[in-house]
Amino acid sequence: MRLVTFEFQGRTRLGAEQEGHVVDLNRGYALLLATRGVADFQAQADRELPADMRGFLDLWDQSLPRAKEALALARGLPGTGGPLAQAVLHPLQAVRVRAPILNPRKIICLGLNYRDHAQETNAAIPSDPILFSKYPTAIIGPEEPILLPGVSKEVDYEAELTFLIARRGRHIPKAQALDYVAGYTIMHDVSARDYQMRKPGGQWMSGKTFDTFAPLGPALVTKEDIPDPHVLDITCTVSGERLQSSNTKHLIFPIPDIVVYCSHIFTLEPGDVIATGTPGGVGFARKPPRFLKDGDVVVIEIQGIGALRNPVRNDAR
Ligand code: MG
Repeated sequence: MRLVTFEFQGRTRLGAEQEGHVVDLNRGYALLLATRGVADFQAQADRELPADMRGFLDLWDQSLPRAKEALALARGLPGTGGPLAQAVLHPLQAVRVRAPILNPRKIICLGLNYRDHAQETNAAIPSDPILFSKYPTAIIGPEEPILLPGVSKEVDYEAELTFLIARRGRHIPKAQALDYVAGYTIMHDVSARDYQMRKPGGQWMSGKTFDTFAPLGPALVTKEDIPDPHVLDITCTVSGERLQSSNTKHLIFPIPDIVVYCSHIFTLEPGDVIATGTPGGVGFARKPPRFLKDGDVVVIEIQGIGALRNPVRNDAR
């Protein structure tokens, strides 16, 4: 299932892509309950299949099968053209797709998780995952502009396979780690290298979490549709030039190891976003360096997930 957060007529809702349409899952489920004779069908749908991604993930074990029922119902709707169908089904081109989750409790990122990227930055291959964070205020969706802050002259691109957490857990055993994963998406870990590397203290976060520095999307592809997340081609193209090209089989710490490592430090919660790190080819390691500039367009593609495209603009402020 390809879950999306979409905007239609000013409202932001959870949907699933199906046959050129976005199905409003909450409305579809409400319609299903109505056909079963439930009197307060919309109120029950709001409780049982929330219309936002975080609420949906909070109820993952129940909401996913309900979403499948809503999708099955929606398959019979096209052509009926009635008001119910119009509330449930929207042509893809009629909606604005936003980041799949807008308000995660945490955004966790791994640094130096591909060998060729560690080598190009003259860093040692890490013995444990390197963790840092972004804030939800950095999230933007497909086609929204990445804003280059006037204070940085070294804004760089990083393509990353990213997963979302479906269940709350601490000290998660490796054998169960993937049970805690809802699915996969793309994050662009936009990075101001001057802030990341040359500010006091040697910490990375300030260079990583400027507003608009976490483009996310286009969809959350649920785990069942990507049986193995460690065999996916991943590329980053800037203004037509292919600058990163790798495969997730090269991750130093694969996803189960990341879940185990994070959860021995802190509780993972539904909706948490975890970006797995970027392969080699980043801009600052190039000779000469290739930083993002006003007018660039960045497209990150991951096999089975799709393409995340964002234009780049100077921040006017
Ligand atoms: Mg990164």
